[in-house]
This record gives sequence, structure tokens and C-alpha cells, in this order.
Amino acid sequence: MLKVDHVAIIGGGFSGALLAINLLRHGNIRVTLVERRLDRLGRGLAYGAAQADHILNVRAANMSALPDQPGHFVDWLSTNGLGNEGSFATRHDYGSYLCAMLEAARNAVGERLTLRTDEAMDVKPAARGAYVALKSGTTVAADLVVIAPGNLPPHDLGAFVDMSRPLYFNDPWATDISNGLDKHETVLLLGSGLTAVDCALSLDGTGFRGRIIALSRRGLVPHAHAPAPAFSARNDSPGGSASVLVRAVRHRAVEIGWRNAVDELRPFTQDLWRGANLVERRRFLHHLRPYWDVHRHRIAPQVAARLDRLRDQKRLEIIAAKIVRATAAEGCLTVEIRRRGRDATEVLRIARTVNCTGPLGDLRRTTEPLLRTLSSRGEIRADPLAIGIDVDRQCRAIASNGDPQERLYVVGPMTRGAHWEIVAVPDIRRQVWTLARLLTNAHWVEAEGL
Ligand SMILES: Cc1cc2nc3c(=O)[nH]c(=O)nc-3n(C[C@H](O)[C@H](O)[C@H](O)COP(=O)(O)OP(=O)(O)OC[C@H]3O[C@@H](n4cnc5c(N)ncnc54)[C@H](O)[C@@H]3O)c2cc1C
Repeated sequence: MLKVDHVAIIGGGFSGALLAINLLRHGNIRVTLVERRLDRLGRGLAYGAAQADHILNVRAANMSALPDQPGHFVDWLSTNGLGNEGSFATRHDYGSYLCAMLEAARNAVGERLTLRTDEAMDVKPAARGAYVALKSGTTVAADLVVIAPGNLPPHDLGAFVDMSRPLYFNDPWATDISNGLDKHETVLLLGSGLTAVDCALSLDGTGFRGRIIALSRRGLVPHAHAPAPAFSARNDSPGGSASVLVRAVRHRAVEIGWRNAVDELRPFTQDLWRGANLVERRRFLHHLRPYWDVHRHRIAPQVAARLDRLRDQKRLEIIAAKIVRATAAEGCLTVEIRRRGRDATEVLRIARTVNCTGPLGDLRRTTEPLLRTLSSRGEIRADPLAIGIDVDRQCRAIASNGDPQERLYVVGPMTRGAHWEIVAVPDIRRQVWTLARLLTNAHWVEAEGL
């Protein structure tokens, strides 16, 4: 068994910071946490780039960072007078909760936790340890390294690859998107999912009074949370192919409501994904994913109400269409689109376009220096569906020759190829808790390892 006294973690967002906290809680080991942006330490992108309008899409009751202490976040929230178990807290407050946990861990363990503000450029796994090369020129030697890089940024759509600000924003979290725009102008959001929802609210919140168009192939928008009737959840996996599963969920939706029918799958989704062959997984991604996403990743009721208001005021329009081409001229964009189900195209005059297509996870297209270096040397590889980094069930990175790496692990959303349901807090907190207990041998104490 690998003896682990020192773990280096790359990426100090939710996944990396929480892994560090759990390693220090469960074992008497040292941890070095490397985060390149001080303002993202503990918060990462989700809780670090959040603006005042951004609200969690999960109720506080299910947002504890610790699976063994389900009331942990609610306690923090009520102690700080910020809400209760039924609240949808702000993402900024959730980031403050994570930072408070990291700070408490630092105070409790002293020198066992080292925080480095630096960028990891390379990791060299070796027979007796692993070495992290930092941009500053120093090296961290550890027994093993865990990469928690978060999602890869969205790729540019073909029509916009050569465009730049102010006409085209690749970063949907930028705070200056509407600067200088007036109420006669139109902002085009590429995508109509959670990122587009955030962006529309931010545009409204920063005082933009013009028109917003959110465009995606199907024009699907995330549904809202709503009280669902009490029901008795299934305790077995529905099993079967994707089409059998869809039929089963539809059937259950009639009995218990669609929200319950989707939610009761939660304990089984990772196993369903692992049990499906590549053809089934591909079919799911191609045909079902957009529908799954809008039913599964729901928005807070107050967010849905704001979107409805914007739509009623004709300030927000959701379009199901494809981009045919985009041309920049005289300080604005001419975007030709083809609506779903139509042959004719139409032309939109757009002041700004924002890429809200969300992360794609294709490692082969990443510009991240660390991930490029590791994949070019074969230390990591893309999973077969190219939606993340290939890992085994224990989160060990799979090298290009197919062997799991003993000293290189990956956690967080980039492991979705192996686990699929590994995006939201409830899944990642379980992933990093389990890994921390494995690496510190704490899993034997309660016989989980048997
Ligand atoms: C906008 C948004 C809203 C969300 N809202 C919710 C919600 O309401 N409820 C919910 O359950 N889930 C939500 N999620 C999902 C979930 O919480 C996130 O996916 C999760 O926070 C992922 O955290 P992470 O640490 O893996 O990635 P990130 O937050 O992206 O953090 C990765 C960190 O690694 C750093 N990094 C990367 N490479 C290097 C390197 N080479 N060297 C040093 N540092 C590096 C980055 O700077 C970054 O800070 C949301 C996600 C997003 C994006």
C-alpha cells in the first residue's frame, strides 16, 4: 500500500480546497494547495466569479460541504444571519463559507497546510513520489499529486473564432459586458443554459435595458425548483438502456411528478453511467443530455421569476436556432441565424455576443499549459468521449498506455467521463471525502475498505 505523508493539490477551487480540508480532517499528513489566483482560493470559478445576482441552484439544506455533517452549511448560514435550510443562498456567501472552512483548517493544523499562490506547469510522477513544477521556478515534492483543475473554458464557435472584445466576449463572467451599451442595442448570448441565465441576470443587474437574445439549438432553458409532493423514492436502480430509462422516468413522472422522478435517480446515476457501454453513453450525450440538463440542474424560483419578468417585458427572448455566419462591421455584428425547423435564414443586428455555451471538457483542445504538457507526455489522456480526463473509479489518472497512475489523481468536473454526475456540490463533496479517506487510510477505520 502507498504510504502518503504529503499530498500536493493543484487547483484551490471547491474540489481542491475541500480535498485539502478532508485530508487534514482524516489524516495526520501534510498538504500543499497550489492555486494560481489568490481571489479564487477556496471559491474557484463558481463561487469566486459570482456577482450579486448569482444564487445557488440547490437549497441550503443540501449544500453542506461535508457529507458526514449534513447540517454544516445551514448552521453556518444561520449563525451568520444569512438564511435557513430552505434558502437559496448567494454564490458569494457560499464562497465565504468555503473560505471560512479553509481558514479554520489552517488554524487547526498549522504547518501541515501550505498554501501556494502559483501556477503548476508540470507534474512528474516518479517511483517514490511526484514533483510539481511551479511557474515561479520552484518545485514541490510530494508523495502524490491531485489535480483539481475545474472545467475547461468554453470553446469559441466557428463563426466567432477571430473576434474579440468589445464585440465578442468569450468570458461570460466578465463584469463589463454591457459597458457603453444603450437600451436600443441587443446582446446575443450563445447558449440558453445556466451560464446564459447568469449572464442575463448580470446584464439586467448592471443596468442594461436593451434586448437580450439567448440562442441555442433547442432553445431549452433550465426549469425552476418548486415544491414537489411527498413521495416514496425508489430504492433500486431502474437499469436498462437509455430508451428504457426514459420510459421508466416518464412513467414515474405521471405517478410522482417529474421533479421527483428525476431526483429519485440521483443515487443511481453514477452507477447507471458506469454500467452503460460507450454506444449508450454517446447516445445519451447526443440525444438526451440537453433535456436531462434542464430538468436535473434547476434554477432557484426567484431566478425563474426574474427571467419571466424579463421575457414579459420583451427584454429577453429565447431562440432555438443555429448560427449560419457572423460578420463584424462598423462597430457591430451582423449575425445570420436559421431557426429550428425552418429553411429560411434571418439576420440579427447585435452589439455584443457572449459565449455562454458552457464547458466542453475536450482535453485535446485545451490551452492550459499544465494539461497540455501532461497529455503530450502521456501522463493523462482524454476519456473515450472527450468530455474530460480519463480516470479510474478511485480517481487515478489513466496514462496514455491505459495504466492507472499510482501518484497522479484527478478530481472534480473533469472526471465526468468516468462518473458523469460529478458537477454539483453533493457529488464532488462525496468524491473528495472518499478520496481523502482512501489516501489517509481512514476508510479502514469504519470498514469502508473491506
Ligand atoms: C457558475 C457556476 C455555478 C454553479 N452553481 C452551483 C450551485 O448552485 N450548486 C451546486 O451544487 N453546484 C454548482 N456549480 C457546480 C460546482 O460547484 C462546481 O463545478 C465546482 O465548484 C467545481 O469546483 P472545482 O474546484 O473543481 O473547479 P473550479 O472552481 O474551476 O476551480 C479550479 C481552480 O483551479 C485553479 N487552477 C487550474 N489550473 C491550475 C494550475 N495549473 N495551477 C494552479 N491553479 C490552477 C483555477 O484557478 C481554479 O481556481 C456551479 C458551477 C459553476 C461554474
